[in-house]
Formats: sequence, structure tokens, C-alpha cells
Amino acid sequence: MTESTPRSFDVLILGGGSGGYATALRASQLGLTVGLVEESKLGGTCLHNGCIPTKALLHAAELADNAREGAKYGVNTTLEGIDMPAVNKYKQGVIDRLYRGLQGLVKSRKVTMIEGTGRLVGPDAIEVNGERYTGANIVLATGSYARSLPGLEIGGRVITSDQALGMEWVPQSAVVLGGGVIGVEFASVWKSFGTDVTVVEALPRLAPNEDEALSKGLERAFKKRGITVKTGARFSGVEQSEAGVKVSLEDGSTIEADILLVAVGRGPRTQGLGYEEQGLRVDRGFVLTDDRLHTGVGNIYAVGDIVPGLQLAHRGFQQGIFVAEEIAGLAPQAIVESNIPRVTYCEPELGSVGLTEAQAKEQYGEDKVKALDYNLGGNGKSQILGTQGFIKLVRVVDGPVVGIHMLGARVGEQIGEAQLIVSWDAHPEDVAPLIHAHPTQNEALGEAHLALAGKPLHAHD
Ligand SMILES: Cc1cc2nc3c(=O)[nH]c(=O)nc-3n(C[C@H](O)[C@H](O)[C@H](O)COP(=O)(O)OP(=O)(O)OC[C@H]3O[C@@H](n4cnc5c(N)ncnc54)[C@H](O)[C@@H]3O)c2cc1C
Repeated sequence: MTESTPRSFDVLILGGGSGGYATALRASQLGLTVGLVEESKLGGTCLHNGCIPTKALLHAAELADNAREGAKYGVNTTLEGIDMPAVNKYKQGVIDRLYRGLQGLVKSRKVTMIEGTGRLVGPDAIEVNGERYTGANIVLATGSYARSLPGLEIGGRVITSDQALGMEWVPQSAVVLGGGVIGVEFASVWKSFGTDVTVVEALPRLAPNEDEALSKGLERAFKKRGITVKTGARFSGVEQSEAGVKVSLEDGSTIEADILLVAVGRGPRTQGLGYEEQGLRVDRGFVLTDDRLHTGVGNIYAVGDIVPGLQLAHRGFQQGIFVAEEIAGLAPQAIVESNIPRVTYCEPELGSVGLTEAQAKEQYGEDKVKALDYNLGGNGKSQILGTQGFIKLVRVVDGPVVGIHMLGARVGEQIGEAQLIVSWDAHPEDVAPLIHAHPTQNEALGEAHLALAGKPLHAHD
């Protein structure tokens, strides 16, 4: 900070993660002056402790599986081992390159970076290191932290994703507490690296927010991979020693392992930041907003993980763009939460957008909804890759496709077209004439729509 650092901005943002920096970039593009307060590293959770490092680990995990299974394809390979320091070096290299790029981008857009911990001290003011900065508009984007359960202390061999991402060794065995997105991701990586993995989920199914068909398919696939899945299993306690952890469940059983990963969700980082003192409505730590992401106080907006809903980086990006455009008076279209694409990056992957079959039935009525499963068994590229899975479409009878749910290796890559179909209210009959290249996995999406439009090609009637 220098004497010449401006103290007052059109838009002052607290938190430089996905939501905060997206707001900054779009606002500056629109000619607004922007201050961005960040206490740690620009890029936030996604870049440094979330999306990017986990996907790098998953890529290394895929290579390990390929090496182990090469002979199946006539390529004689063996997996000699996992060199975790080298995996981490590769992972860090990816982060560092993206971090440098992002820093350059923010600088080139003339965003003023303000380093330090900020606190909301007025409807238009944030205090950082004893200095007061003001904004005609304030955007709160302080993100989230890895939660634990009451009485379950993080430390030693009981870790969250933050510590798991820094591990320099591969555990021989691991218990993953929580079968949501982050839990299944680590379960998948560790299994590929040779760990004996048990996933413990209190709810009746893995990926419990997804369509039930995806949860069942994932559980089947995980069991086939040798991952132990305990659903409807409630954690009751853990003891740890030099040698490992002993995890107890409420049914009286115990599981011994090298490590316990606690992946029970992420809480909003809003405590002690002055939000409630300034009159913001806060529910269990989350900042409540209207559908314009306005908090109801002054010109204060909130974006990203602190706003109740899907905790995803691309939701934060879009909310940031939205708020910048709203401030600039462009009256952008409100974000439809159910149309935010969701990918669960494990092996096999899950990709989904729109309503689950159950949600669609609740919204439109039991007999007004039709669902169709297209098995990847009929898809050439999936056969070549050796993956199993399906694409499930949910449509309103004589109406649009309102949900697409996919399971299989790499299906996350298909989410782009899936979200266009759902967001543009396309009918299967609109998609059926569109041509999907052969042989691609994307073709399966086309085939599924052909089938739902009543003219299946590579499918048995
Ligand atoms: C292991 C893991 C894997 C994930 N994988 C994916 C994925 O594959 N795809 C996906 O879409 N999402 C993924 N996510 C979620 C994604 O990371 C978050 O949704 C996203 O980072 C939220 O953005 P945000 O801007 O709300 O918060 P954050 O990214 O958490 O950023 C908040 C920023 O605010 C700063 N900050 C907080 N308080 C203050 C303060 N008082 N003063 C100054 N600065 C402050 C923090 O230092 C941080 O940089 C993953 C998360 C985890 C943990």
C-alpha cells in the first residue's frame, strides 16, 4: 500500500476468490473503479485448495489406473508406485502458472489489490489494517472453510481437504467421512493410488444431492473398484494414535485406518467480519440475498459460497459477473440455480444439470414427467475407453428437457451441451435433428435425445 493507493472505489470487494475476482474483472471491464481486499492469495479456494489441485490429483490418479490396466489394452505397463512429492510438484506447477496468469490479468484490468484482512465497518466501508476504504457498492465474497462435526477435532491424522492436498505420502488405508463431492473425489484419487478406502455417509446414498440413479450407479462403480461404501452409517467418534485412527460408527462397528478425511461440507466464512453488526440477514452463517444478490442493506451485495446454494466456483464466477453488471445498470438476467451445471469429478464422473426426476415430479406432477436412461453400452467411444454408465434425461411430457444426469468416465466434458439444452428449454425433438460427431461420448447425448423423441438409433426399442 502506498500513499497514492486510492481509498474510495465504485466497487469495493471483500475476498479475492472465484466470486470476488470475477466481480472485479467484469466491473473494471465496465469502466468502474475497483478495490479488491484479499488476506491470502488471489484465486481463493478454487485455485489454491479446491478445484484445480484436486483435478491435478485426479489426472495423476487416472494415469496410475492407466498404467495398472495397460495390459487390458495390449499395452504392457506396470505401476511402479506413486511419488507423492513429484505429484505435488506437478500439481503446484499448474497452480503457480494459473496464479501468475490471474495476477497479471487483475493488474492489467487496473484493479487495486488491497492486502490484508478486511472487516465491514459501515454500509459503504471496509477496514483493512486500520485503514478505512469506501465503495459506492460493496461486494462480500469471503468464501468458505472445511467444516467438521461437533466434537470432531481436526489435527494429526484427522484431516480435511486442506491437509489432504498437502500430503507427501499415500495412505495405505483411509476412512472418508462424507460421500458428497469432495469426499468421493478423494476416495477416488486414493483408491487409484493404491489406498484401501472406506467411505462413510450418514445419508442413504452417495452424492445425495444428485438424482438417485446417479447415486446408485456411483455406488455400484465404487464397489466394483474395491472402495468400501457404508451409507446410512453415522459416525460416533475417532481415536488416534501414532499408528493410525480408529473410527467408530453408531452401529457399534469400528474401522481402522491410517487417516480420517473429514469431508462433511463447507461452512460460510462470515463470522467476526461485521456483517451482522451492519444489519445483514445471516442464516447459519450464510448471507441472505434476494435473487439480484442484494443483501437488503445499502448497496451491499454478496456472491459465492457465502450465499446459500451450490458451492461451486462457476456459480461464483457467474454471480460476480451478474453483480458487476447489476451495479453498472445493465439489468442482467437473474441466475437460475437449478441450471448451474454440476460435475462430480471422481472415477467414474457424474455430470448433471437441471432437476432430478424426483424434483421434476414434485414440480410438474407424477404423470407429467418422463425419464429415459440411455446406456453407454451402446456408445462406441465409451466402449473404447472401457467405461460403463448412462445418460438419464428427464422431460416434461410434451415439453422441454428439465434435467440431464450422466454417469461414466469423462462425462463431465458433456455438461456444456447438457446445460444449453436445459437452460434453453429445448424439447428432445429440437435436439434430435442436431448432429453429434461419431465416435464421441457426446454422441450418447444425441442418441438419448433421439430415443426420447421416439426415434432411437443405437438402442433397443
Ligand atoms: C477440495 C475442493 C474441491 C473443489 N472442487 C471444485 C470443482 O471442481 N469445481 C467447482 O466449481 N468448485 C469446486 N470447489 C468449490 C470452490 O472452490 C468454491 O465454490 C469457490 O472457491 C467459492 O468461491 P468464493 O469466491 O465464494 O470463495 P473462496 O474461493 O473461498 O474465496 C474467498 C476469498 O476471500 C478471502 N477472505 C476471506 N475472508 C477475508 C477477509 N476478512 N479479508 C480478506 N480476505 C478474505 C479468502 O482468503 C479467499 O481468498 C471445491 C472446493 C474444495 C474445497
